[in-house]
Amino acid sequence: MSPEIERAEQEAVSLTSELIRIDSTNTGDPETLVGERSAAEFVATKLTEAGYAIEYVESGGRDRHNVITRLEGSDRTRPGLLIHGHLDVVPAEPSEWSVHPFSGAIQDGYVWGRGAVDMKDMDGMMLALALHYKRHNIVPPRDIVFAFLADEEAGGQYGASWLVERRPELFEGVSEAISEVGGFSVTFGDGVRAYLIETAEKGIRWLKLRAHGAPGHGSMVHKDNAVAKLAAAVTRLGNHEFPIVLTDSLREFLDGVSELTGMEFPEDDLEGSIGKLGNLARMVGATIRDTANVTMFNGGYKSNVIPSTATASVDCRILPGREAAFEAELDALLGPDVERKWLALPPVETSFDGAIVDAMKASIVAEDPGARTLPYLLSAGTDAKSFQRLGIRNFGFSPLKLPPDLDFSALFHGIDERVPVEALKFGTRVLDRFIRAS
Ligand SMILES: [Zn+2]
Repeated sequence: MSPEIERAEQEAVSLTSELIRIDSTNTGDPETLVGERSAAEFVATKLTEAGYAIEYVESGGRDRHNVITRLEGSDRTRPGLLIHGHLDVVPAEPSEWSVHPFSGAIQDGYVWGRGAVDMKDMDGMMLALALHYKRHNIVPPRDIVFAFLADEEAGGQYGASWLVERRPELFEGVSEAISEVGGFSVTFGDGVRAYLIETAEKGIRWLKLRAHGAPGHGSMVHKDNAVAKLAAAVTRLGNHEFPIVLTDSLREFLDGVSELTGMEFPEDDLEGSIGKLGNLARMVGATIRDTANVTMFNGGYKSNVIPSTATASVDCRILPGREAAFEAELDALLGPDVERKWLALPPVETSFDGAIVDAMKASIVAEDPGARTLPYLLSAGTDAKSFQRLGIRNFGFSPLKLPPDLDFSALFHGIDERVPVEALKFGTRVLDRFIRAS
């Protein structure tokens, strides 16, 4: 462990709180942007004051801000490691919370607020360690690229995706990356603790559907109604169950859980057995099949006028390896009359092996002896989707040792989002060991 790591641990806590106090809500509509810029400037100032040369990248002429810096390693012939975190957060409604979501309050052993687990916790740990290494002239074994990014919550168009397309040289020589939604602990019934490391993600299709029909008066006999046509197609989709597919990541995860707990996951009752996983059931249950949920439906403008078009939005999540099969099923369900356009972000998958995985396991065990690590498939998406396009292997590894009864997955985008202070300190120590060993 680094000398004086305690100061970095404290700093990770205070930086997480300070970052939460900067409301960086991203609704997906650039007009409503508030503090994403202030968050980026905060990080840029800290890094610059510590002596880093930074790249401050404004993306897309849309007032979006990204901060990237590189800490040179002792062996510059080795491929680099990218550690990235997004600075934006999803909206929060203060009246629903026990504390103000942008207070960054530190109380009852937690740092509270929007972004506490998604993902200003990791931003705080990354920033604290970056400052710590500069302060003590600590040189990691290989180049570390720290990236603080915009716009992840709306798909990364002005963040990771923008940088990968227009500034790929910033990630020159990087072979592997770590970021959010992994490295947190889960505790099984008899107190066995395992840390879940994300090795795969479902793909995303944000689908826009449009049906056309003949416009007309609502009092007439009318056979070609756009609203009715689209409603029927969307109902077929809503009633459809995509097939269960056991991906490599899910299989490895379930095998690991079986080994730790003795629970069985027979293929003919995968859903039922996953349902017994407690707080994990919801998260794991979403990774056994593709999903397509209708989220918006619009048509018409007056009660007695039949409109010529109707539109709907569908949020589709697709397992690794299922993209072509998913499209074929979707075509059959929607039929030829419904027009479709989509924003597609691909699934991500890497194997749970190699020196980097060994370093993750060793750094966890050094801080939590006897703990286990398991790979898992995330049902949601992260900026890993963009970095995969550069041939980078992606892992979700933002280590947190959590209390057994905390429903962690419910905190993501949830009310009373919070992170234990001790978990942040633990994560800072684990990340420090990992960076110095990787
Ligand atoms: Zn996130």
